[in-house]
Amino acid sequence: MLDVYRTMDMLIIKMSTQTSLSTLKSSSLINCLRQELDVFINYSIHYCYMDDFTYQCQTKIIFGKGTENQVGKETKKIGKKVLFHYGMGSIKKSGLYDKVINSLKKAGVDYIELPGVVPNPRLSMVNEGIKFCRENDIDSILAVGGGSAIDSAKAIAMGVCYEGDVWDFFSKHTPIEKVLPIGVILTLPASGSEASTATVITNEKEHRKLSAINNLLRPKFAIMNPELTFTLPKFQTSCGVADMMAHIIERYFTNTPHVDLTDKLCEATLKSIVKNARLVMKDPNNYDHRAEIMWAGTIAHEGILGTGREEDWSSHKIEHELSAFYDVTHGAGLAVIIPAWMKYVYKHDVKRFVQYAKKVWGINSGDDEEVALKGIDSTKNFFKEIGLPTTLKELGIDDKRLEEMAKQCVKKWDVGNFVKFDANDVLKIYELALD
Ligand SMILES: [Zn+2]
Repeated sequence: MLDVYRTMDMLIIKMSTQTSLSTLKSSSLINCLRQELDVFINYSIHYCYMDDFTYQCQTKIIFGKGTENQVGKETKKIGKKVLFHYGMGSIKKSGLYDKVINSLKKAGVDYIELPGVVPNPRLSMVNEGIKFCRENDIDSILAVGGGSAIDSAKAIAMGVCYEGDVWDFFSKHTPIEKVLPIGVILTLPASGSEASTATVITNEKEHRKLSAINNLLRPKFAIMNPELTFTLPKFQTSCGVADMMAHIIERYFTNTPHVDLTDKLCEATLKSIVKNARLVMKDPNNYDHRAEIMWAGTIAHEGILGTGREEDWSSHKIEHELSAFYDVTHGAGLAVIIPAWMKYVYKHDVKRFVQYAKKVWGINSGDDEEVALKGIDSTKNFFKEIGLPTTLKELGIDDKRLEEMAKQCVKKWDVGNFVKFDANDVLKIYELALD
């Protein structure tokens, strides 16, 4: 007489046309329908889903001692003539430069060098690289360094394959259709760019720091030898740690329900970073602690921790203005912005902040509000402990341009998903971060 079907978004009740009027009016039928309706309404309200996703990480990771000597062999697989792109020459001091050259020569790879990438990599260098590649028939790029060299290489790689202005990919989100293949030797664990889909470039003339994102931007291979990070100064190591933690935090604070697995992966990765960062601070030449940090930097940003969940990214956008206006080191800027952002938004979902405080920082005493706030304090104290600034003042930034930065920030992007921001919200976060 009565068939009820419940789908994800529909309640279907099939009733025979033969049903008598008295049956239709019967209280048992009406009760039955009422119950079905209750269940359906309850189901619709509470049954939300993990987001759909496509995840494909094509980057071949070659991790371990001496792996930089494989660079010639690996580069040969991705091109015939490679642009060897690196920074200000620290690889020459460390001896890595000679190893790369020897390996490329041994494998018979033709190469041309383009050094000079600076932190917060510049659009002018990207344009120079594009011209250079075209003039020399370059078909692949090898980036040796940290996120700056890799991001610069990615921007050059897409610019060479595009007839228009490469800045279109950043400012107009022009679709990326083709890029030159990229290989990487990582020397600074931080940005996760060695396996990520993103590049961030600073247009120094316009004071704009913007990102472009596409799966094609993942490098073909990333060579990671933790020994190459032994000589990193403490401050750079700490900035890298803050950046990788921020990459997880931007994903962790989400409104998407049913993200149990990725929550736990995020919490475990954060805990491991905190533990090993403390050990690295004491013993910078310890291979195992350096290795944990290096691998965590990749895991934090290659995408798997964000699968199935809406990500936030407001702290990065708010920090990018600091870098664009004051040329602040990205990780140091994040150490200042993240705790201020947390303070500003925690009331939006106290339970999630409680979970963060308990699982990552082991805080269990107090009511929800207290636990949430202790979690935020622990984050800030940890950044202090590893020698990072946690106020704008420490970065040498006063309140003069905060309004300008806040306006610029929201002009460029939609800021925030966990909590959506307008210019006033961004300004309040800068003010919370002041001192
Ligand atoms: Zn970052």
